[in-house]
Amino acid sequence: MFPNSEHRFCVRHMYNNFKSEHKSFLSNKSCGLQPNVQLSKGPNVFKVVERLKLESSVCHPEYSGNFHYQVRGPGDDQHIVDIDKKTCACNRWQLIGIPCIHGISAPLSSNRDPIDYIHNKYKKENFIKAYAPVIYGINGPMMWPKTNDKPLECPLFKKQIGRPKKAKALQADEVRV
Ligand SMILES: [Zn+2]
Repeated sequence: MFPNSEHRFCVRHMYNNFKSEHKSFLSNKSCGLQPNVQLSKGPNVFKVVERLKLESSVCHPEYSGNFHYQVRGPGDDQHIVDIDKKTCACNRWQLIGIPCIHGISAPLSSNRDPIDYIHNKYKKENFIKAYAPVIYGINGPMMWPKTNDKPLECPLFKKQIGRPKKAKALQADEVRV
């Protein structure tokens, strides 16, 4: 239907990738919501921080003063971290709001909790605020205002180069009908 779309946007491939990455999610046979989760941060943030804590063991922070750290590692890498402004020279912290391994290692070295350095957008109360407004329903196409524009049409069919496949490659859990 969309001959120019790339392979990775195919819904079947996206579903198969999702299935292999989130096996436990699908085996739950639920909508994925966990009703008893009561966290001050979003449910996945704690897991991410715990993983980053382990990964940050290769970093060696040295306190320079005024909330600045010079973090060596991994390897010969070296970054400046400012835990007051929540920034790291690698920019990951600024981009996603969760400290990178350099940013995690700095507060850990001063016995501070890295969870306190996560951006406020991950806080539960901000999640609730973001989804608080009501999304109202809309009327069907019969009620939409008419325009004089041409209706949208399907894209033109373009024959692909090469011999077309005769049969779809099935996944392990799919049955040929
Ligand atoms: Zn960093």
